[in-house]
Amino acid sequence: MTDLASSSPCQETTVDLAIIGAGPSGLFAAFEAGLHEMSAAIFDALPRPGGQLTALYPEKPIYDIPGFPSILAKELAARLVEQVRPFNPLWCLGQQVERLERGEDRLWRVGNGTTLVHARAVVIAAGVGAFSPRRPVVEGLAAFEEGGAVHYRIADPTSFEGKRVVILGGGDSAVDWTVMLSGIAAQTHVVHRRASFAAHPASIGKMERLAAEGKVQIHTPFEIKALEGCCDVLTVMIGNPKERVAIEADALIPMLGFEKSLGPIEGWGIGAGKGGIDVHPTTMATDQPLLYVIGDMASYPGKLKLILAGFAEAALAVTDAWKQIHPDQAYKHVYSTAKGVAR
Ligand SMILES: Cc1cc2nc3c(=O)[nH]c(=O)nc-3n(C[C@H](O)[C@H](O)[C@H](O)COP(=O)(O)OP(=O)(O)OC[C@H]3O[C@@H](n4cnc5c(N)ncnc54)[C@H](O)[C@@H]3O)c2cc1C
Repeated sequence: MTDLASSSPCQETTVDLAIIGAGPSGLFAAFEAGLHEMSAAIFDALPRPGGQLTALYPEKPIYDIPGFPSILAKELAARLVEQVRPFNPLWCLGQQVERLERGEDRLWRVGNGTTLVHARAVVIAAGVGAFSPRRPVVEGLAAFEEGGAVHYRIADPTSFEGKRVVILGGGDSAVDWTVMLSGIAAQTHVVHRRASFAAHPASIGKMERLAAEGKVQIHTPFEIKALEGCCDVLTVMIGNPKERVAIEADALIPMLGFEKSLGPIEGWGIGAGKGGIDVHPTTMATDQPLLYVIGDMASYPGKLKLILAGFAEAALAVTDAWKQIHPDQAYKHVYSTAKGVAR
């Protein structure tokens, strides 16, 4: 999935459909757009597509996707990306949409300070809001973030070669990166506030073997208490009721999961609140022209917050958008079996 941004990089352009959110609903909306021969741009605040599937529960099996008796969440996300690939949408990943407004030319402006897309129609598939990495609660963190010693995302593991790294967290990401960086960094510490880790047992086993070989230092149950030092060299103070330990480090890598917030969506004047945005249940249309909401953020009587509901809503929204964009053409439904996906 890493090559998406380079395959169709986000740039200022005009598309038929801008999709806000690359969770399962947004990804399938991009596929439906392709099937309807509509160009699309897909935005997500996160650098990877998949929404909750990749951010919250990548290793969990899902049992209620039709045709898949069981599928890992991360695998479903990867398959949705593969499914849309033939249509080559613009991937605006790592781009939180802050601006959504309709111009006098009847095009929607979708983007933020650095990226702007003009769109005939917009599908909001923003789930429960934008995800951002959870920051540890420790005084003085901001100064080290600015100094470049705190890393919430790892784009290039080799940048930690020869460095002393402290990873915070006890889930899959923390354990997987501990294992991975132990072969690259000079020292790899992992700090978790509980006695046991909540990751895949095979990964925990690997990490414990590395610890037995002295390649990883496991600190449990410990919490981060303070950050000392200066700029890009820091002392990470960790502690529990019985002891306090100082770890000299070059990099702090918090892997503490994600926080979600409606963020800018609340300011768009489209009635976004905790209960979602009201839409017409047969078209997913809002009360604004050519603006649709699908997936977990859509609200209508009987709404089910399920992946399969988001898929159907994507088809309804894109079909209606096509009709509104082409008011002078009769809509003719064509099955995917008849149409194929080659462009
Ligand atoms: C632990 C767990 C288990 C689950 N199990 C199941 C299950 O078994 N079956 C099932 O059907 N469902 C399950 N669900 C629910 C399912 O994951 C959601 O219904 C589904 O992910 C909703 O998809 P979505 O595309 O609407 O939104 P999301 O998956 O939430 O994706 C929304 C995306 O929009 C992005 N976004 C938001 N605001 C902005 C913005 N302003 N700019 C750019 N990007 C933005 C977010 O970063 C996010 O990536 C589960 C959920 C959880 C948490």
